[in-house]
Formats: sequence, C-alpha cells, structure tokens
Amino acid sequence: MVEDNLKLVLKELPPGVKLVAVSKFHPKEDILKAYNAGQRLFGENRPQEFAAKAAELPSDIEWHFIGHLQTNKLKMVLPYASVVESIDSKRLLDAVEKWGSEHDKVIDVLLELHLGAEETKGGFTEEEIEEILSQPYPHVCFKGLMGMATNTDDKAVIEADFLRIETFKKRLDEKYHLRDFAELSIGMSHDWPLAVRHGATIVRIGTAIFGPREY
Ligand SMILES: *Cc1c(COP(=O)(O)O)cnc(C)c1O
Repeated sequence: MVEDNLKLVLKELPPGVKLVAVSKFHPKEDILKAYNAGQRLFGENRPQEFAAKAAELPSDIEWHFIGHLQTNKLKMVLPYASVVESIDSKRLLDAVEKWGSEHDKVIDVLLELHLGAEETKGGFTEEEIEEILSQPYPHVCFKGLMGMATNTDDKAVIEADFLRIETFKKRLDEKYHLRDFAELSIGMSHDWPLAVRHGATIVRIGTAIFGPREY
C-alpha cells in the first residue's frame, strides 16, 4: 500500500521537485516501508514524535520539521532537522538563532507565509518576511518560503493562495538575490499538482502516501 502510493506520487512528480513524505501519526513500520522503497526525505510536525522517530530510524533519513514549534521544544527538533520549514514567528526565529549561536551551528529554515483566511493562525505577512530578510541572522540560513493554502475544496481559492506565494517569492528573488533562497514548499495531498504548476520545489504529502491519520 504505502509503496504503491509512493510510486504513484513519484510517477507524477516532475524531476527537481522534492517530496517530503509526511509521516506524522504513522508508525515507524510505515516509514520503513517507504524507506525501503527508496524514500529518504520525511516530515513530522510534533516535536516529541519527531525526536523519537529520528533517533530510532535509519540515520540517512533527512527530516524536515513542518509543524508549529514552541521555543521550549527546540532541543528536541534542531539536533535532527535538516530543515525547519515552519518558522512562523519572530520569537521562534530569534530562539533558533540563539540555539544556533550556542551550538555553533547554522540552521536551515523556511519562512512560513500566512495564507488563507484571516482567522487561520500561523505565519508571517509579506512585510514581516521582508523585514526579517533585511536583518542579520548569522546562525540561520533562509532556504525559502513555506505556505499552507486555505483548507477548502475550492480550487480557485487554493490557486489564489499559491499564486500569492509564488509571486511574492519571485519579488524577493528579484529584490534581494539571496543565494540560498531557492525553495518554495507548497502543496499537500489534495492540492499538490496545482502547487507544482505554481512553482513548488517541495511538496509535503502525507495522506496520499500513508493513508488517513487516526488522531
Ligand atoms: C500534515 C501536513 C501536511 C500533509 O498533509 P496531507 O493532507 O496528509 O498530505 C503537509 N504540511 C503540513 C504543514 C502538515 O502539517
């Protein structure tokens, strides 16, 4: 099942677009199925679960952290994460910078642009991101943007969200010419083909690979 689902996604995914297999809430056995089928990049969104899986699963797995991260949980996540995709507040960013400085490490991150309805939480405005990019963070490497489209079946609404983040990414590229700022992480199980058409370089797919989650 997992192997077949993974193959189906990979068959449709254009070369150059990275697949983060989102394994949250799924057991290690399922991750190993995908691993044995060749998948090496996985994503988790809860610090405790992330740390436990990362410590026990093969060390050549690359882990992206994709969930809301509280500053008191950094030590569970930063030792294992190759990229923290979900930097969504100045407070968190400052804490990551401080951790990097204390551990003499540079942390790769994406900045989360707030998309969708006003009341949905999480992420920066365009203005906040521009302000961050104009300031020095010696222990943080900004790798690009992350976004979650509005949770809806309305394709037009999702497309408007993707167009907004795609356009903003292009504007940042033209204005700042940031060397490492290459990634656009958009697209989940139900909307990733649309995300790819809007410039996604990373898609984060859970349900379509591992099946529904039981909360
Ligand atoms: C859970 C999650 C996903 C994957 O969602 P699916 O709909 O299961 O593909 C992607 N991105 C983030 C930030 C998530 O929390």
